[in-house]
Amino acid sequence: MATADERTTSQGPRGDETDRLDFLQAIVETTDAIVVAADADGRVIWVNDAFTRITGFRGSEARGRFLWSFRVPEEQKPGREAFLEAVGRTDERRFESRWLTRDGSELCLSWSTRTLFDENGAVRFRVGTAVDVTAERRNAARALDLGEMLDQVGEAVILVDRDSVIQYANREAVELYRTPLKKLIGKSNRDFIPEAEAERFEKFQQTLRDSMEPQAIETTRVRGDGTTVPVELRVSPIRDSAGKLSGFVSVSYDISDQIRLQESARIAADRNAVLVRLLENLPDPVFHMRPDGTLGYVNDAVEDVYGYKPEELLDGPMARVRPLDRAKHMAEFVARAIETGEPCIMETQALHKDGHRIEVEVRAVRIDDTDGNYAGLAGFARDIGERKRMETELRRHASTDTLTGLANRRHFEAIAAAEVKRAARYGHPLSFIICDLDHFKRVNDSFGHDGGDVALQRFAQIVSASLRLPTDVAARLGGEEFGVLLPETDIESAVAVAERIRRRTEEAAIEFGGRPMRLTVSLGVSQHAPGESSLAAAMKRADRALYEAKGAGRNRTCTASA
Ligand code: GH3
Ligand code: MG
Ligand code: MG
Repeated sequence: MATADERTTSQGPRGDETDRLDFLQAIVETTDAIVVAADADGRVIWVNDAFTRITGFRGSEARGRFLWSFRVPEEQKPGREAFLEAVGRTDERRFESRWLTRDGSELCLSWSTRTLFDENGAVRFRVGTAVDVTAERRNAARALDLGEMLDQVGEAVILVDRDSVIQYANREAVELYRTPLKKLIGKSNRDFIPEAEAERFEKFQQTLRDSMEPQAIETTRVRGDGTTVPVELRVSPIRDSAGKLSGFVSVSYDISDQIRLQESARIAADRNAVLVRLLENLPDPVFHMRPDGTLGYVNDAVEDVYGYKPEELLDGPMARVRPLDRAKHMAEFVARAIETGEPCIMETQALHKDGHRIEVEVRAVRIDDTDGNYAGLAGFARDIGERKRMETELRRHASTDTLTGLANRRHFEAIAAAEVKRAARYGHPLSFIICDLDHFKRVNDSFGHDGGDVALQRFAQIVSASLRLPTDVAARLGGEEFGVLLPETDIESAVAVAERIRRRTEEAAIEFGGRPMRLTVSLGVSQHAPGESSLAAAMKRADRALYEAKGAGRNRTCTASA
């Protein structure tokens, strides 16, 4: 780089030095460096061609302007102060300043300046040479920013050379691989590959070299602390200016979370498969009713209960299997299930495909999608026709006497209690008859126990046939003892019923084992008195009347006085 020669310029041109001056002039004019001369106040006196080429200002435009006026605004004041401070000094000053070109773009100039003095020590002028370092500074800035940027990136970035030696790693890479930066740089990236993955990774790198295209791989890395981490690597080959492979840049993603999710998704999928198989093989119908009332799922068991094949019901309305008169019942049930979110149960009737009604129990629970929105009902239906029939049968069993089919004592007492209340409320009479077969031991003795049972059954039929009103109730109270409750009947009418029973028994033509069986009965009749809270007192009175009838020779009816 050429600079004005202090001695030459301070002493002025002299004979033998003319050549040298021409030579210097040529250098100054042809150099790439800016050369400027300014007076002691800082006004430009002279510039070279490079000045014009780089800044865009012609010599005529530059002359007379203060040097610092070419700088960016914020540097102008400090620039002036620095000039005035330096102008009286003999040492060379090196600094950088930012200038604006004639068309306003920024320049970074690297200066070397010094002052030339005359013999009296006065300032002749100050000369500066500058080179344009704008591009270098910009690149440096970019390099700095890039490093910072890479540190901000959420992924681990690593740069390796052609031989897989790590040249650069960002902050994330340091964290992911749990290795300090100092130890990462210069290490081979092979040190992070577990034994088991080595061969596969070697192949991967070969593919990269062959294709010279970015490639991705899921693999495992050993970290500085010895633990392993599953990663996805995206690697791009880097070429030098000649187009040859100079290294690789790799971005590593920690995929442990992803792998965990995949694993749990796989478990969930397995579980779903099991559940679906379970549902399909359940003996009871299972359904999913969508919020719009259509069926989103039904299992094969629907056919056994409803008669429809699953595909006939699927996507159709649930209402297809619901009788019209159960619509309200069903709607209330659905509303309750949605509102409570609890499993709800109802017994209802459904329509079989062939039109008949079936008794079903439906259990349903509200289901929500993953966002918590109502997604319909999941439910079970069960054919309870058989259970209903059994329940009816059981109820009947619980209230009837199995030998005679009449009400049993327990049921009779329940009815009696209800009738006592009714009689009190309406002021109606209520009467009671007790019947005890005569000499029944003898019947058993001569016809056997089975013969006795037949006699009991025949007597039960006689009693039932002798009643007048549907509200009259006959019961076997125990052994060969029977009771008859006669609501809205006074004692005279009750005596008439008792007499009818007695007579019909006496007249009954019963045969057992080919032999005729003679049967008679004694009866006691009483009437419930209005003030009594139960039938117990009236039953006791009837008992006493019966005892009387037995004592009086049997086969007769006696009345209890109230
Ligand atoms: P009485 O005229 O005094 O009533 O004479 P009785 O022999 O009927 O005497 P009692 O009422 O004391 O005896 C009832 C008998 O009825 C006793 C028992 O052997 C018989 N008996 C009770 N329950 C049954 C039954 O379910 N089947 C049969 N075959 N016999 C029964
Ligand atoms: Mg008896
Ligand atoms: Mg008896």
